[in-house]
Amino acid sequence: MSECIRGERDSVIAALSYPRLLMEREIKAQSCDQHYRFSEQVDDCVDCLYALECQSHSDKLAAENLQDASSSELKKLLAFGYEYVNYELARVDHETECCSCESCGWIRRVTPLLSSI
Ligand SMILES: [Zn+2]
Repeated sequence: MSECIRGERDSVIAALSYPRLLMEREIKAQSCDQHYRFSEQVDDCVDCLYALECQSHSDKLAAENLQDASSSELKKLLAFGYEYVNYELARVDHETECCSCESCGWIRRVTPLLSSI
């Protein structure tokens, strides 16, 4: 992929705040001895059911890391966020084309963005 233009980067970074928020809600509904800071050195973290969400939330999708990410990393993260939101929606069976919830609205906005970058 060619370097995406500034505006596109900003749109991707803005779009990623939504899956990050969903992950945050998911992990903070659990109790966590590590204060929701994922660490590969901690056995509890490695074995945790929410390791993916926690690691993504506190590391990959953190705003300061997104600013430094390359265009191809951003694209991968957006694809990952898209998959995550879709997966969450599949558990509750939404009609994404016409549903008015936040997640379905996000999917509709991000689908063209994902194919344009
Ligand atoms: Zn919906």
